[in-house]
Amino acid sequence: MIRTQALSYRYPKGTPLLFPDVDLPQGATLLLRGNSGSGKSTWLALAAGLLSAAGGTISVAGQDLMAIGGAARDAWRARKLGFLPQRLHLTGALNVQDNLGLVYFAAGLPPDRWEINRALQALGVADLAQRRPQQLSGGQAQRVALARAVLLHPMVILADEPTASLDDEAAALAVKLLQDSAARCNATLVIATHDARVAAALPQALTLRLSQAATQEAVAA
Ligand code: ADP
Ligand code: MG
Repeated sequence: MIRTQALSYRYPKGTPLLFPDVDLPQGATLLLRGNSGSGKSTWLALAAGLLSAAGGTISVAGQDLMAIGGAARDAWRARKLGFLPQRLHLTGALNVQDNLGLVYFAAGLPPDRWEINRALQALGVADLAQRRPQQLSGGQAQRVALARAVLLHPMVILADEPTASLDDEAAALAVKLLQDSAARCNATLVIATHDARVAAALPQALTLRLSQAATQEAVAA
């Protein structure tokens, strides 16, 4: 579940970004579309509670994000949210298994080796558990990052341009893996993308189209 009203954000010295309202039921899929610079990554950061809105309201997985901050927001994120960032942020000093173990650390839970193995298995990368991130192909690293994102069965999964550097076959697979992973947790799925292949692969998804022109008009109105 994600609900926003009159959500806005402003980077220091930047033009204000005003986002169209969203009312997304639990388990639904949303495509966040728009050209580069239209605010997709900013919207995801707001939904993840990594940025604080300048105005409006935002509620994600039943939590009013304006009502909590700091450590409470970090704890909420660790428990409820799976984030697949554009840059995957796997830790090079740790092997795949221990990268996933960090998820438990962030959530204040003891690591569960069995669950880690299961998540890696579901994405077909269990045999890579002992490798370091730099020993993975781009597609393998993305699967590991997705396994990490869904490890604690999040209520919401956010993915930022997951197909940007992938060929057609790998892009289709990445979308399918995201969809399957979301379905396994009955998670709400948001994919930010300017890739028409993603929209074609998800005809049933709702779409939120961002454009700087629209946000500027809305600010002027
Ligand atoms: P998208 O993900 O759709 O490409 P972003 O959310 O990254 O768009 O950016 C939206 C707007 O905010 C752009 O005009 C961008 O230049 C600006 N922006 C993004 N990050 C920052 C930042 N850290 N500081 C200042 N402006 C930023
Ligand atoms: Mg972006």
